[in-house]
Amino acid sequence: MFLSLLEQTLKQRQADSLLRQQATVEAVNGVKISIAGKQLLNFASNDYLGLSTAATGITAMQQGASEFGVGSGASHLICGHQRPHQALNLAIAKFTGRDAALSFSSGYMANLGLLQALASKGDLIIADKLNHASLIDGVKLSGAKSLRYAHLDMAHLEARLKLNGRNKFVVTDGVFSMDGDIAPLKEIVNLCERYQATLIIDDAHGFGVIGEQGKGITEHFGLTQKQVPVYMATLGKALGGYGAFVAGDERLIRYLQQMARTYMFTTAMPAAVASANLANLQQLASSNRLVKALGENITFFKQQCLQVGIKLMPSESAIQPILVGACDKLIKLEKAVRKQGFLIGAVRPPTVAAGSARFRITLSAAHSPAQIQSLVNCLAKIMHSNKEVKA
Ligand SMILES: *Cc1c(COP(=O)(O)O)cnc(C)c1O
Repeated sequence: MFLSLLEQTLKQRQADSLLRQQATVEAVNGVKISIAGKQLLNFASNDYLGLSTAATGITAMQQGASEFGVGSGASHLICGHQRPHQALNLAIAKFTGRDAALSFSSGYMANLGLLQALASKGDLIIADKLNHASLIDGVKLSGAKSLRYAHLDMAHLEARLKLNGRNKFVVTDGVFSMDGDIAPLKEIVNLCERYQATLIIDDAHGFGVIGEQGKGITEHFGLTQKQVPVYMATLGKALGGYGAFVAGDERLIRYLQQMARTYMFTTAMPAAVASANLANLQQLASSNRLVKALGENITFFKQQCLQVGIKLMPSESAIQPILVGACDKLIKLEKAVRKQGFLIGAVRPPTVAAGSARFRITLSAAHSPAQIQSLVNCLAKIMHSNKEVKA
């Protein structure tokens, strides 16, 4: 009975073109990946700098594994906190210009732990409507009262900030994961100062991507630790590894270490992973070559789209969505694009709002201009031809 109810829900999803397909990737070679025996150019990954397959990270992971094994064996506070974890935390603090940093096993866990630890019943959390699911879940877990403001709407945010709460928090993505647009952080910082709210930023898609040196949204807007006291980002996107971190005042970090349940009650990431993250971070810190290459690829993609009349959503980041609207149409288009040898994200509700299904194209420093050009040509052909799209 219970299982047949589950099956019914799945059938309904399928009927609504909402059932997700999980492909098995058979091989990865930089931006080329193989699925079902077919090689595709990957424009769907968050590996924005191409670091996930770079030699430095691979070597560091191998060395980390020979030294510490494949697992850390315990949580950080028991005996899982090993030399590479400590070195990684220090390197993150230095690179982000913060007093201290604490790494978590994933971004999802960092956000749950962060919000659960910092906010509780009696507090007020004000969140952008398009925040990432992990922030939404963290807000729920905290037990605080929460209100959302319309995406990027500063007047709406201000109206919310006028309401009462013991401690007030403003929580937002830095670069939004499905739209690619950037939060107006200077304005948000000013409002937080005026209404004495603590700002929490999730910069999963800004870290390693925006700012001259790839230091993310705080560098992009030139904001200090005092202005952005809680800075969170992930290590599994531009950094090409796995995990996440929170950076800020040394007191914040010591507090999270004691109070964030997703830090305390989970096995530390393998030291080999921490070593790879560290090596990739050092690579990023030593040169902005990859960040610049990514920026050039983003500009080139946008120019090419403009030339062939493909309408993009307003985004300066590595995430470049093309709004399609209906799910069934999106799926048909995606199939056609894949047939031509390209993998691009096809994002549907509930990840995005109903009626706003979209391609989510992500660019990487590892793409060549010729590869980008060939994607744009393919998209132009497929999107402008009615034959393939007809529902
Ligand atoms: C991916 C993502 C996360 C989750 O990070 P993981 O390390 O993948 O768990 C959190 N926030 C945002 C905005 C993300 O895009």
